[in-house]
Amino acid sequence: MHAELIDGVAVSKKIRDEVAARCAALAARGVVPGLTVVLVGDDAASAVYVRNKEKQSVEAGMKGETIRLPASTSQEELLAVVDRLNADPAVHGILVQMPLPKQIDPQTVIRRLAPHKDVDGFHPVNVGKVLIGEKDGFAPCTPAGVQMLLQEYGVDTGGKHVVIIGRSNIVGKPMASLLIQPGKGGDATVTICHSRTPDLSWHTKRADIVIAAVGRPGTVTGDMLKPGAVVIDVGINRIADPTTKSGARLVGDVDFESARLTASKITPVPGGVGQMTIALLLRNTVRAAEQSIPAATVAG
Ligand code: NDP
Repeated sequence: MHAELIDGVAVSKKIRDEVAARCAALAARGVVPGLTVVLVGDDAASAVYVRNKEKQSVEAGMKGETIRLPASTSQEELLAVVDRLNADPAVHGILVQMPLPKQIDPQTVIRRLAPHKDVDGFHPVNVGKVLIGEKDGFAPCTPAGVQMLLQEYGVDTGGKHVVIIGRSNIVGKPMASLLIQPGKGGDATVTICHSRTPDLSWHTKRADIVIAAVGRPGTVTGDMLKPGAVVIDVGINRIADPTTKSGARLVGDVDFESARLTASKITPVPGGVGQMTIALLLRNTVRAAEQSIPAATVAG
């Protein structure tokens, strides 16, 4: 068997087109969705992510802005910036790029965000809403993107056994929250595995859907899968590769070549889940802008 590729590039474009149409409809009502990203310090990878977020938000018709603060910024100074953005009616979505310098506690900053502007979906109010199943909260972008990829590729999660590898607050835990909800895109039976799980393959071999979010290449190999399983690879790992110009390349957590022989559908890295994260961020932001208008129609 050769697995069908789940194309995150195509699906994310579809979402960005939908977001652009919603931005145009808002513009006609005099509202320009505003997304402000706060970047503290000069982490090279974060700078690339932030540039992409700003570029794609502007392309969708938003007011995308980045506030760059020095690595020496104190927690109080960052909280003052968050307070200002919380109070600014032109800002509908705020994202504080992680990781933060060590003098700043990330949870204190996340808790300071106005929940209705927390388009990353990490504020405890949004985490709780997603767990409860309240639709007006914001789900974290990466797991929401995974759920959308499954839906777009006709993978019905209802009654399926999903094994998630990884229990972070960013991916693993919210992924489980989304998949156990009753209804479309949910109704799954979920197992969460982590570094203390003995015999990972015992679990993965029983999974209809495997979602790997570990940060370790080769965590899942083809012999760990049930034939026909759907494989979603969230991992992004840079490994040395002297055959490339840069001397490195990106791989996921799944050994793609062996897994594609057993799986029925699989996401590539790059070109899979990674493409979805910013698209879902834009989608959350346009929804935040729609929800800021009294009695606005909320399209989802
Ligand atoms: P974390 O490091 O926060 O979490 C990794 C999880 O994997 C932990 O729960 C850890 O267990 C578990 N784990 C580690 N080793 C093993 C093992 N041998 N067997 C089973 N579980 C293991 O990472 P994130 O969740 O933030 O990210 C995971 C990956 O996804 C990374 O590669 C990251 O780059 C990528 N990512 C991609 C995104 C995208 O846009 N596509 C967005 C976010 C992340 P324990 O809790 O016990 O330590």
